[in-house]
Amino acid sequence: KTTLIGLTGGIGSGKSTAALLFEELGIEFVDADNIAREVVQPGERCLKQIHDHFGCQILHSDGSLNRSALREIIFQNPDERIWLESVTHPAIRKRLIHHIDSMKGTYALLVHPLLFETSQHTLCQYTIALNVPRSLQLDRVVARDNNSKTQVERILDTQLSNEDRCSRADFILENTGNSADLSVKVSMLHNKLITLLTRT
Ligand code: ATP
Repeated sequence: KTTLIGLTGGIGSGKSTAALLFEELGIEFVDADNIAREVVQPGERCLKQIHDHFGCQILHSDGSLNRSALREIIFQNPDERIWLESVTHPAIRKRLIHHIDSMKGTYALLVHPLLFETSQHTLCQYTIALNVPRSLQLDRVVARDNNSKTQVERILDTQLSNEDRCSRADFILENTGNSADLSVKVSMLHNKLITLLTRT
């Protein structure tokens, strides 16, 4: 049976970059952000519930979810965020479990920015946290998304601190160097995991 390992880290910590490096080593991954997008596609039950609750203000004219409109509402109103999560999190978890069941290999990765915050580490046998100083995280996200520092800081403040995340994880991947450094660190961790998981 494939061991599921959670790969987590704050915004812009390098989860997607690391996941692609693991994939080059033959490791499958599922990205919780993609699953989260799938459950609010037009025609999905979650989108209907969100529409019923917030009205047309959170839809684009083509009927798809207006994420930035929804984000604005929930940033200003914590109760609405809790309501939204009570609708989306169970749907995401259900779809994730379905996907995880089809994954193969000695281990596979669940890539999730809020692995501990949403308790989805309970699906995983082990966890890996990306560790990056907050200032570097900010710089990388601002460069990637063309967001303001304030916007990124707002998101960072809804996530666990790097320190707390790393203290909860079984393995830590430092992502302070360049991409070649990260590649070396991923290979070393991969070898360690294979040894650990194939030991009889
Ligand atoms: P999000 O939570 O927003 O999805 P993420 O954790 O998946 O982010 P990435 O998208 O992998 O993070 O990385 C954030 C940005 O930083 C990207 O533009 C990526 O190319 C860059 N980056 C990641 N690791 C490194 C590195 N070691 N050196 C230089 N740039 C990096």
